[in-house]
Amino acid sequence: MTQSRRDEGLGPSPVLSEENAKKIRLVVLDVDGVLTDGGVYIGALPSGESLEMKRFDIQDGLGVRLLQWAGIEVAVVSGRVSKATAIRARELDITECHQDGGAQKISAIRGILERQGLDWDQVAMLGDDLPDLAVLRKVGVPAVVGNATEEVRKVALWQGRCRGGQGAVREFCEAILKGRGDWDALVEAYVTARSGEGEEE
Ligand SMILES: [Mg+2]
Repeated sequence: MTQSRRDEGLGPSPVLSEENAKKIRLVVLDVDGVLTDGGVYIGALPSGESLEMKRFDIQDGLGVRLLQWAGIEVAVVSGRVSKATAIRARELDITECHQDGGAQKISAIRGILERQGLDWDQVAMLGDDLPDLAVLRKVGVPAVVGNATEEVRKVALWQGRCRGGQGAVREFCEAILKGRGDWDALVEAYVTARSGEGEEE
């Protein structure tokens, strides 16, 4: 059984400096090994149509929501084409969801930057393996999950303790929002919005 954030023994998450946290306008998330543990269930329906399923973490999803609440754009960029990824992105209102079997992630992100009028220094990416390396070398805040491979760990400004699919995205979202000083207010806004007293969603 892999260790997750909910298990004891991981220790405190590393912090992200205020300077780095405050410049982030776009967070790019890899899918396999970051939003998931990298496992893919592959099978077929009785009709013969192939079926691919992935397991996503609900606490990661809330972290994404809180980033969006803070005005930070979240994008998903994957080197594998999967309906499961598109469905999860839609659930989280992530409109910038790019899947390319050739793992041409730089060109996908360049398109987002042009549309949003941002530059590479305002981008954070959370990755786990070699398909992310070219992007991690270009962005202002390169970050990796706790079980990332050595090559990407070497270029990361921030490495979480959680494994991909086991709370790594939530851990990074919290590091950004705490670095900006926004975390406590967002938590309170979230609670208020669900107490029957607030005006937000
Ligand atoms: Mg990956």
